Amino acid sequence: MPIIEALTAAKAALDISGKISDLVNRPNIDVTEVRANVHQMLIHLVNAQSGLSEAQLEISELRQQLDERERIRAIEADLEIEPDGQYYYRKSERSASKQIQYCPVCWGDKDKLVPLTHSAESTLFECGIHKTKYCTKVYIEALKQQQSARTNRRFSRA
Ligand SMILES: [Zn+2]
Repeated sequence: MPIIEALTAAKAALDISGKISDLVNRPNIDVTEVRANVHQMLIHLVNAQSGLSEAQLEISELRQQLDERERIRAIEADLEIEPDGQYYYRKSERSASKQIQYCPVCWGDKDKLVPLTHSAESTLFECGIHKTKYCTKVYIEALKQQQSARTNRRFSRA
């Protein structure tokens, strides 16, 4: 913990400053001893400064992580699963009449909002990253009708 190192060094510097004060108040000042203690005090001050710099860096990194978590939490609170297609949409966007569909897998995997591409009729959506398809009831119904039409044709030919 850089902050503990900084505090320890600052306390050591303070202790030495007291010692220096004693030394200079003596009738016969020992310049060599005073100089050695001042030097020692400076070393502690440099250590305190570097500990504080490290602590500042650590705090700013933690703040960034916290901001990122809050951003993710805010998006999560805004996301809703569309029952007809099982994709995500944002409540705020829908209430602003924006129709954007998002991939639930990409959000779950990397906290990334990836808009889905859609068919001309907007009944089928697809993630451009991992190619998963999200089908609406209208799309599934149309698919069933195509298949039964094909089966009927086959039977009528036979
Ligand atoms: Zn995806």
